Amino acid sequence: MNYDDNCIFCKIGRKEITSAIVYEDDEVLAFLDVNPVSKGHTLVVTKEHFKNFNEVPKNLISKVFSVAQMISQAQIMELHAAGCNILTNINEAAGQTVMHFHVHVIPRYDQTDGFNLDFTPKAIGTFNLPIVAGDLKKGLSVSYTHLRAHETRHDLV
Ligand code: AMP
Ligand code: ZN
Repeated sequence: MNYDDNCIFCKIGRKEITSAIVYEDDEVLAFLDVNPVSKGHTLVVTKEHFKNFNEVPKNLISKVFSVAQMISQAQIMELHAAGCNILTNINEAAGQTVMHFHVHVIPRYDQTDGFNLDFTPKAIGTFNLPIVAGDLKKGLSVSYTHLRAHETRHDLV
């Protein structure tokens, strides 16, 4: 199992640093963020060290998101959150500060609870969407085949 001696989340996974754990199994750990943006803000991590979302094997991604769903449901049932944001940052450009994959599960109480996702949309036509979609499809290998099959099925309907 990958482990980084200098990684704070690896240390939490090995209980070398304490945290408020809310869920644990062999592969996944969920604990409260030490600097919560709202009450119950939880981080779900793989115990194994991966730098970010894009580096994690798909079977583990599924497990992490399955746990994130349970946490979100518990936040709404037990903390009486009105909603939840699920977020993972990839690389510094996206705000990642801890370079060990983690998913933020952020309960929302109302739109003035201190958390703000500021989407500023570009005007329609700023990007040529078919060209952008074409470029992205070039980057999909396995999924590309799936997309093409999906398009074909629509063509036939
Ligand atoms: P990100 O900006 O997505 O990399 O988020 C990293 C998060 O880890 C931040 O929200 C920090 O508050 C949180 N964090 C850093 N150190 C700890 C720690 N020892 N225990 C719990 N959360 C932590
Ligand atoms: Zn780590």
